[in-house]
Amino acid sequence: MSLLITGSIALDTVKTPLEEHTDQLGGSASYAAIAASFFTPVNLVGIVGNDFPKPYLNLYRKHGVNLDGLQIATGKTFRWSGEYEWDMNNRKTLSVNLNVFETFQPTLPAHYRQTPFIFLANISPQLQLHVLSQVKKPKFIVADTMDLWINIAKVPLLALLKKIDCLILNESEARELMKETSLIKAGKALLKRGPKFVCIKKGEHGCLLFGKDLFFSAPAFPLEDIHDPTGAGDCFAGAFAGYLAKAGKVNHQTLRKAVIAGSVIASFNVESFSLNRLKTIKPKDIRARYKSFRQMSHFDVA
Ligand code: AMP
Repeated sequence: MSLLITGSIALDTVKTPLEEHTDQLGGSASYAAIAASFFTPVNLVGIVGNDFPKPYLNLYRKHGVNLDGLQIATGKTFRWSGEYEWDMNNRKTLSVNLNVFETFQPTLPAHYRQTPFIFLANISPQLQLHVLSQVKKPKFIVADTMDLWINIAKVPLLALLKKIDCLILNESEARELMKETSLIKAGKALLKRGPKFVCIKKGEHGCLLFGKDLFFSAPAFPLEDIHDPTGAGDCFAGAFAGYLAKAGKVNHQTLRKAVIAGSVIASFNVESFSLNRLKTIKPKDIRARYKSFRQMSHFDVA
């Protein structure tokens, strides 16, 4: 089953203690769409300016991403820049320029409106609600958010929670949104705000998945070389939603497997800047890493 993804499409400038790359392909929807494309066909909704490089458009096409919902507007593409410390868990945002996103109010192409699975990648909750309002009877809706919206758009964010099936967010965001120091309490409190499932990401420490009768704790895939953690969360969420869309049904088993699929794709993504690593992986690489993930975390050995 296909997956509709909306979110930011960006030109990112990223600095780590060892490298710096300018105006590379980024944005929550870009990472999510390429990550999901390994599992299911993707309908992308977003906007870029007329400065957006053609090779980046070709990357989506190469991954079979449907671009009928991508608007190319006169103006500049959304830009974001960030800098990592030696401890790459710490990142500072240096600048954000919404540019063409400032006035973006998409009308979905008619053939997008029946898409059964939806992933609202990180963008303003108002825009997430606007896109969602145009979809007819979706089967399962996943949404991501960030601290910025908790701080400046909490009311629409809480309204969004009532309309979605699964919320994905970082541990600090979960604590901040629910005003809880305990992640377990924050997860349970979020379930009471609307979504049936909540997935709390803990960066290199994995993630926790909460549901009414479900609690699943998954590690992250341990890596020796991390070059750029940008977009890991977006890849996780895109692959998670993509895996569920491919399965076509949501139950405890598919949700657990979707978490591992998300962790596998996110682990590839951090091995290089932008989408450079995801560009090179093949289904057999995904299968091999999924298998070693299982071996690594299985403890009930006969
Ligand atoms: P992450 O590493 O998961 O936080 O995602 C990083 C990506 O989010 C980058 O590629 C940015 O272009 C994008 N991004 C940063 N700030 C925002 C924002 N305010 N709204 C939407 N996307 C953003």
